[in-house]
Amino acid sequence: MKYKRVLLKLSGEALMGEKQFGIDNDRLKQYAYEIKAIVDAGVETAIVIGGGNIFRGVQAEKGGIERTQGDYMGMLATMINAMALQAALEHIEVDTRLQSAIEMKQIAEPFIRRKAIRHLEKGRVVIFGAGTGNPFFTTDSAASLRAIEIDADVILKGTRVDGIYTADPEKDPSATRYSKITFDEVFQKGLKVMDMTAFTLCNENKLPIIVFDMNKPGNLLRVMEGEEVGTIVEF
Ligand code: UDP
Repeated sequence: MKYKRVLLKLSGEALMGEKQFGIDNDRLKQYAYEIKAIVDAGVETAIVIGGGNIFRGVQAEKGGIERTQGDYMGMLATMINAMALQAALEHIEVDTRLQSAIEMKQIAEPFIRRKAIRHLEKGRVVIFGAGTGNPFFTTDSAASLRAIEIDADVILKGTRVDGIYTADPEKDPSATRYSKITFDEVFQKGLKVMDMTAFTLCNENKLPIIVFDMNKPGNLLRVMEGEEVGTIVEF
C-alpha cells in the first residue's frame, strides 16, 4: 500500500444517496465495504464524517436559531452519522472505536489523541465524531486537524466528483480534471478543495490531500494502491 495511515473525510450529504435527507442504507453499506477493503489490506484508517445530510449551523439562523446553537446541533448530527457508520462497519466485522469531540460517554470515547493512535496501531478504525467540538468550524477543518494530530500520511476527501476541475464540471462542460496540483496553484487559481481553514491547516503542515469519487466501487482501495485516481494536492 502506498499509504500506511490515512484520514478519510466523508461528507454527510454523501450518505444521503439519492434521498433528500438522512441516511441511505445501501450507500452506508457500500461505504462500509469500501473501508473494510483498505483495513484488510493493512491501512490504518481514521474517519471524519460530516452532518450536512441532517443539519447545518448556517441554515439554523433562518429559523431563528442562533448560529452557535445551530453549530452544536450540526456537531450532534455528525454523531448520528458516525454511529451509523460504526454500526455498519461492525456488522461486517471491522473493529471500530468512536471518539467524540463533545463528551457523550454512554456512546463514545472522548477524543484522546494518544488513545486514537493506539487503536489505529491495533488495526481498529477510529471514527472522530462531533467535528472539532467548536462552533464556527466545519468537519473539513476537523478532518485536517485530526489528520495532523494522528500524523496521517494523507487526507482523503471522498466526494461525488472525481477530483478537482479547472471549473465546475456541472456548469462548464469544457472543464478538465487535474491529476496533480500544488497548494500554491490552488490558491492562485482560487479553486475550491476544502474550506480555507481546513486547506490552510493542510498546507502549513505539509499534509497532501486526495480528492476522489467515493461512490465508484473500488476507488478507495485504488487510491491506497497508488493508482492515479482523482486529484492529489501536494507540494
Ligand atoms: N460543525 C461545527 N464545528 C465543527 C464541525 C461541524 O460547528 O467542528 C457544525 C456546523 O454547523 C456544520 C455542521 O456541524 O454545518 C455539519 O458539518 P459539515 O457542514 O462540515 O458537514 P458536511 O458538509 O461534511 O456534511
